Amino acid sequence: MEAFDRIVIGGGPGGYVAAIRMAQLGSKVALVERESVIGGTCLRVGCIPSKVLLESSELYFAARQRFAEHGLRVTQDGITFDLAAMMARKTRLVQELTDGLAQLMKKNQVTVFRGRGRLQGNAVVQVAGDAGPVELTAPAIVLATGSVPVALPGFAFDGQHIVSSTEALAFDHVPEHLVVVGGGAIGLELGSLWCRLGAHVTVVELLPQIVPFADKQAVQLLSRALKKQGLDILVGARVEQAKIEGDELVVSVRDKKGENLELCCDKLLVAVGRRPYTTGLGLEQAGVALEQGGRVQVDDCYATSAAGIYAIGDLIKGPMLAHKAEDEGVALAELLAGKAGHVSYDAIPSVVYTSPELAQVGLSEEQAKERGLAVRIGKFFFKGNGRAKSLGEEDGMVKLIADAHTDRLVGAHIVGPRASELIAEVVVAIELGASAEDLGRTVHAHPTLSEAIKEAALAVEGRAIHG
Ligand code: FAD
Ligand code: NAD
Repeated sequence: MEAFDRIVIGGGPGGYVAAIRMAQLGSKVALVERESVIGGTCLRVGCIPSKVLLESSELYFAARQRFAEHGLRVTQDGITFDLAAMMARKTRLVQELTDGLAQLMKKNQVTVFRGRGRLQGNAVVQVAGDAGPVELTAPAIVLATGSVPVALPGFAFDGQHIVSSTEALAFDHVPEHLVVVGGGAIGLELGSLWCRLGAHVTVVELLPQIVPFADKQAVQLLSRALKKQGLDILVGARVEQAKIEGDELVVSVRDKKGENLELCCDKLLVAVGRRPYTTGLGLEQAGVALEQGGRVQVDDCYATSAAGIYAIGDLIKGPMLAHKAEDEGVALAELLAGKAGHVSYDAIPSVVYTSPELAQVGLSEEQAKERGLAVRIGKFFFKGNGRAKSLGEEDGMVKLIADAHTDRLVGAHIVGPRASELIAEVVVAIELGASAEDLGRTVHAHPTLSEAIKEAALAVEGRAIHG
């Protein structure tokens, strides 16, 4: 049996980042991963491949729909694309990144074991790899096995007609009609991707708005922009059943008025959330308790109910986001080393990478009201921003939410170009306890999209200059 200071099971952003930080802090670390590469859902079949394809499809869409407004012309043959080449680029970029992670493990002297890890009790992990089982031992074991797509009853994944995000990132042709069940991050990102490449896309969302827990006004703007791009969005609608008829899938939907619709499609993407993945980990025998819903129960220091076993990332409570998993990995490594590891859960940004993007942090206007928090709102629309105009991307706004008594920022919602990058300024402001006035008095370069943040901050006091 090989002895380590720390064993991490799962090599996604939670697990590999934890392993690197533990090694930096002087521990002898083993990382157990069942797939052939490190990187997890995020790198293999999540964040990275989806963003690579979104970028390719956005360029194609811009060339087709937006070049003309910039005075750019495409040849008389029009413009087309090579899906196989687009997919090959995605595969190559993912491989470059996973190769980079393998190098990082070597550089940090993290020993990687390929195979499925299982808790054996008494600080032991058994790894079932190709070369037979090996046993590892350590006083601290970290579970970072992530999540898998939730299946919808009556819509079992068949990998062909009814698919998850993994297959929808690798279609070998553009579907004629793609029905997407779920108007969350995956549904809207992958819906946008295939819509831009020419598919007819219908998003069916059960709740009254897409991205249900986001700021209502921000979502209205996003929804309007996506519909303008050609996405059909049905909210308050329920998929009831799917029947295969020849090559087609006939999906019955009950719309928000209670009327029945039949949608004929060639692909149905089920994107109704993900669930923690704990199959075969041996949690019960090890005495690791689960919360209702299947997430691993942890205390504030990521300790599970079993001594010496910890958990992070999609496996535990909180948003299922790569950067949240990474920061928990770092915090846990530091706590185990006797340092003050910490994650600011009130300042975790989230982004939906549509066009325009939706980025948010902290409370929405509705959440602030539910909590009885008196707030002041400042808004600035991108149509008043010179840089957004020059980009030809004027849809959207910055909306800042500040405590009415202290002016401290408690939330930000950005729908617009590069919202994913812009949100970082407000995350830092919230992290540092800044007020709206602080942002309003900060000099922002001109002409930049970030001036919309300054203007929204000034608008909290009713003194925006350009709005
Ligand atoms: P994972 O990344 O799921 O990693 C878990 C790892 O554990 C996997 O590699 C798995 O093979 C391994 N494993 C599981 N069981 C065992 C075992 N018994 N033994 C050994 N290894 C095991 N998040 C964002 O923040 N931004 C985005 O833009 C974004 N886009 C996404 C797009 C898609 C299509 C999807 C599906 C997800 C996206 N996410 C995004 C979510 C993000 O991928 C997850 O939140 C993140 O990967 C969670 O990290 P993790 O380390 O907890 O788990
Ligand atoms: P999600 O929770 O973001 O969205 C699921 C959506 O499906 C919700 O709007 C929900 O109301 C809806 N829904 C649930 N049951 C339904 C039903 N029966 N019919 C119709 N709609 C239904 O989940 P997701 O989009 O599957 O993504 C999974 C996880 O991956 C999320 O936690 C997300 O944060 C993460 N992710 C993040 C990003 C990003 O950060 N850009 C991108 C993709 C995925």
